[in-house]
Amino acid sequence: MKQRELEMLLQKVPPHPSPKAELEQYPTPAPIAADFVYRALAAGDIADKVVLDLGAGTGVLAIGAALAGAREAIGVDIDPEALRLAEAAARSLGIPREVLSWRVGRVESARLAADTVLMNPPFGAQQRHADQPFHVTALACAPVVYALVNGETADWAERFYVGAGARVTARWTYRFALPAQFWWHDKPRAHIEVAALRAVRGV
Ligand code: SAH
Repeated sequence: MKQRELEMLLQKVPPHPSPKAELEQYPTPAPIAADFVYRALAAGDIADKVVLDLGAGTGVLAIGAALAGAREAIGVDIDPEALRLAEAAARSLGIPREVLSWRVGRVESARLAADTVLMNPPFGAQQRHADQPFHVTALACAPVVYALVNGETADWAERFYVGAGARVTARWTYRFALPAQFWWHDKPRAHIEVAALRAVRGV
C-alpha cells in the first residue's frame, strides 16, 4: 500500500468526540500517522511484526500498522469510549479481529510482548513527563520503540532512552495541528512541534 493510500484510509479514523483534558487526548493527524507508520515500515519494523500502540485513543497508529502489514496489532488505552470508536473504525476498514485488537487498561500495567511499539502518548502539557510511564512500558514490551513526543521535552525523552540502556537511532520532527479543544486554550495555539524518536533496546 502506498503512503498516500494509507493516509486516505486513516482519514476515516475519527478523533475522540469528547476529549478529556487530563488524558491529553490529542489525535495524530492522518498525514502524520501515515508518515510515522511508513517510516517504521521502511525500517523493517512493521511487516509481519507484532505491533503495540500504547495510549491508542481512537486507534490511528494501530490501524495504520495493521493496514501496513503487521502480523498483529494491539492498542491499549485507559478510555473505553475511545477504543469503541477505534474498534468501529477498524471494522469499517475491513481489518480482521485476529489482526487488530484492543485492551482497556492503564499503560503502566500492560504486560505484553511485541516486536515494535508505535505510540503517541500524552504530551505532558498538563502534567510534566506524563509520558514517562509510556516510555518505561514501551521498552519493557518491545525491543524497538517509535514515540511521538512534545518537541520541548524531546531531549529529555532521548536522555531517558539512553539512560535506560537503549539507543536512539533516529529523530525527526512534525508540526502537529492542535484542535482548539481544551478549556485552557483560550488563545488556541495552532501548532505544536512534535519530535519522533526511534529507540532500540539493549544495544
Ligand atoms: N494514539 C492516539 C491518541 C493519542 S492521545 C493518536 O495518536 O491519535 C493519548 C492517549 O493516551 C489518549 O487516548 C488517552 O486516553 C491515553 N492515556 C492517557 N493516559 C493513559 C494511561 N495511563 N494508560 C493508558 N492510556 C492512557
